[in-house]
Amino acid sequence: MTSSSVLVINSGSSSIKYQLVDPETGDAIAKGIVERIGDTMGFIKHEYGDAVTEEEIPVPDHTVGMREVLRIFDTEGPSLAEAHILAVGHRVVQGGRYFDGPALITDEVRNLIEDLCPLAPLHNPAHLKGIDVARELMPDVPHVAVFDTAFFQQLPDKAALYALETETAEKYSVRRYGAHGTSHQFVSQEISKMLGRDDLKQIVLHLGNGASASAVKNGKPIDTSMGLTPLEGLMMGTRTGDIDPAVVFHLQRVAGMSVDEVDTLFNKKSGMKGMTGESDMRSVWGVINNTSDPEASKRARTAMDVYINRLLKYVGSYAAELGGLDVITFTAGIGENDDDVRRELAEALAPFGVKIDVEANKGRVKEPRIVSAPDSAVTLVVYPTNEELAIARQALTFA
Ligand code: ADP
Repeated sequence: MTSSSVLVINSGSSSIKYQLVDPETGDAIAKGIVERIGDTMGFIKHEYGDAVTEEEIPVPDHTVGMREVLRIFDTEGPSLAEAHILAVGHRVVQGGRYFDGPALITDEVRNLIEDLCPLAPLHNPAHLKGIDVARELMPDVPHVAVFDTAFFQQLPDKAALYALETETAEKYSVRRYGAHGTSHQFVSQEISKMLGRDDLKQIVLHLGNGASASAVKNGKPIDTSMGLTPLEGLMMGTRTGDIDPAVVFHLQRVAGMSVDEVDTLFNKKSGMKGMTGESDMRSVWGVINNTSDPEASKRARTAMDVYINRLLKYVGSYAAELGGLDVITFTAGIGENDDDVRRELAEALAPFGVKIDVEANKGRVKEPRIVSAPDSAVTLVVYPTNEELAIARQALTFA
């Protein structure tokens, strides 16, 4: 048993993910998820050491969900009393203009997070449910909010502002907030350490089901692809990424779609899912490689071309904004595991002197590694993100 730990909580609309982190080693001591909150029957999965416990239980709301988390630590271990929890770190998607770093959750901070609900209507209300119950059930430890947007509060105005009429933009808080900031900050800092330089021109590609790119110069973010919401930027599992905003008007006028229908279409039914029927990259490659259905294979290949081309456009524009490029880092589910995506992007960048080491790039390895050739003009790195550890470390600053 470790001497101290941080409990990291990511409370979503119908799930609570949690991880007990040893902040010194960075190890996950235990982790789990409560799912299907509000459904007739909920589900909890808890992992501790080699033991995996799965239970179907009724979880009508977040209060019950959080109680179940504490209960399963009691029954399956490790005992939270013995884990010496120094702080609870809560992931919060939207910190707006209020937060440029982690914040100790007081009633005032809690209310500010509530104020920001209109900017993140799916996420912030769900976070608040988790925060409120956790503060009630664990009143003796500091609760800390770690914001997905905080890192990008440092963006220069030229990257954060849209060319929207100023009065409207200011009145309705319309600007680029970015997302995945905890990951972009963590990974870019780790890359500086790994390469022993703090004057790097970096691009971080966080390619998960949601995907975002950032440009980081001398440790500071100068641009990022997600905007007011996580919809903007790269093509994603189910999101369009960049699209002409006039498509919204077009679909409303010509197809008679409502705002909510377009919202769902763009966020949940588009991207890889919308173009191939599959949102998981492994399945998309499966469709591409399936010779028995050449039509579907061709369509999926085209979708992959759109995906890679969008990455290429962002890398090109960020290299221009950075005034050069030292390193591209791949992280998150696809970035860490999909060697074909990495290879295809690197090959497209060959005219700029980028050379991938095909052998080093092959397969999935949990460890950070350089996958470019020694004479590549840009260093290519695969670096596993660890948002829970980053949240735990930030939460600890208030312990
Ligand atoms: P999120 O946190 O946004 O849900 P993750 O970072 O966990 O996403 O990434 C999930 C995605 O990673 C999956 O949807 C899948 O597309 C991709 N992925 C995971 N493993 C592999 C793999 N071995 N090869 C290709 N893609 C993978």
